[in-house]
Amino acid sequence: MQKIGHFIGGKHVDGTSGRFADVYNPATGEVQAQVALASQAEMDAAIANAAAAQPAWAATNPQRRARVMMKFVDLLNRDMDKLAEALSREHGKTLPDAKGDVIRGLEVAEFCIGAPHLLKGEFSEGAGPGIDMYSMRQPLGVVAGITPFNFPAMIPMWKFCPAIASGNSFILKPSERDPSVPIMLAELMIEAGLPAGILNVVNGDKSAVDAILDDETIQAVGFVGSTPIAQYVYSRATASGKRAQCFGGAKNHMIIMPDADMDQAADALIGAGYGAAGERCMAVSVAVPVGESTADALIEKLTPKIEALKIGPYTAGNDVDFGPLVTREALGRVKGLVEQGVKEGAKLVVDGRGFSMQGYEDGFFMGGCLFDNVTKDMEIYKTEIFGPVLSVVRARDYEEALDLPMSHEYGNGTAIFTRDGDTARDFASRINIGMVGINVPIPVPLAYHTFGGWKKSGFGDLNQHGSDGFKFYTRTKTVTSRWPSGLKDGAEFSIPTMK
Ligand code: NAD
Repeated sequence: MQKIGHFIGGKHVDGTSGRFADVYNPATGEVQAQVALASQAEMDAAIANAAAAQPAWAATNPQRRARVMMKFVDLLNRDMDKLAEALSREHGKTLPDAKGDVIRGLEVAEFCIGAPHLLKGEFSEGAGPGIDMYSMRQPLGVVAGITPFNFPAMIPMWKFCPAIASGNSFILKPSERDPSVPIMLAELMIEAGLPAGILNVVNGDKSAVDAILDDETIQAVGFVGSTPIAQYVYSRATASGKRAQCFGGAKNHMIIMPDADMDQAADALIGAGYGAAGERCMAVSVAVPVGESTADALIEKLTPKIEALKIGPYTAGNDVDFGPLVTREALGRVKGLVEQGVKEGAKLVVDGRGFSMQGYEDGFFMGGCLFDNVTKDMEIYKTEIFGPVLSVVRARDYEEALDLPMSHEYGNGTAIFTRDGDTARDFASRINIGMVGINVPIPVPLAYHTFGGWKKSGFGDLNQHGSDGFKFYTRTKTVTSRWPSGLKDGAEFSIPTMK
């Protein structure tokens, strides 16, 4: 059985805790590897290593640090197929989708090539008589990222690229469900010229996370995962004085106005609802058609498209729309929620629970499900299902539709489909959600903008990537200086002001 250890100080390191977790091939249901789960002592050793390497890296000029990112981008492109294959084998998503996962991370690495510009400070000449004032952004030291299973390439890169380009050293604790790609990324960073000890991958579970949260050397923690863990990480990290940004779960609504192009809206819902088997924090899981005739037309268009979805292993190539869920436990949980929706009285228009595939009977597959007549009080509406299940909640008018995402506890993404500019503009202005699409179902901002949800989808006050990524992993120092040759003012006892 393949054993996956850690990557510390620029080398592969075996796990010594004696604890391991199984890593599955979700398409076959087989255990294909075992990943080491770090002990506190192993985490402490990695942090000490990172702390020793960081000062020299911070002293390396930003242009040289940016060149490492430039080379890293080349290497990601060179190894794209290999990375995508490793990713699909552990996660289950299709190969084109796995490449998208790598590319959305690569785009952040590309943005970080601009580090010299992004880290430039501010300067005020003559802020007072003979006084100059300047601000600089300095790295924090050792920082960490804790990431989820669903984007094992993209989210680690969203975290470590800005942190490392800013001069920090980094401890990455990736998901234990698909640990291979994060280690491959660390190998590529070393090949790109990153000094050993600046990027360390320590695999593990709650013990490794707690060791990060309580450590006194680590200055900042970036987390992405489910909301209960995001809340836990945020409160424990900030209690020990760290900077924290923690992104959580989602329930993304798409409103379909009566004037929308119904074919476009239905296609958008199919891709955004069922792509990656719904295991995306920006997946659309609630469709809100406005008016009974809009709802009837939408259900009529969606039903045959959902029944025709092609489900299978990533090895089937472009012939597959989505693959299996990540684990048997995730499959059982999603099927259980579908059962609960039926019991609560929602109408199950398409039932994909019985899906089975010859030769892959033990894989974690299920077909797409569609619920109609879902209401606000139902568990399937309140909970993030994280599976290929779309719920339709019918709204009488725009205000009733708007109120649904507004009053939901999550606030990650949302979208409206309409041809009316006034309605779209009103929606974008009033909605209390971090990322908004207008006729765009999955409005994931590009690398040079920032990504982050509101309400229970995000804790902390800076977003991921874009300029916020650099702000999060640096702190500002402001210097006031004067060269008072011959000045003899005497002591000043009141606070200096610009008199
Ligand atoms: P998860 O919360 O189970 O795990 C995330 C990380 O936390 C992993 O590294 C895991 O090892 C660690 N962890 C798990 N349980 C822990 C515990 N009890 N104590 C300490 N650490 C723990 O999430 P997941 O299942 O890997 O990912 C799916 C979730 O992530 C979904 O809720 C999805 O919406 C969310 N997500 C959010 C965003 C976003 O930007 N808002 C992006 C991607 C995924």
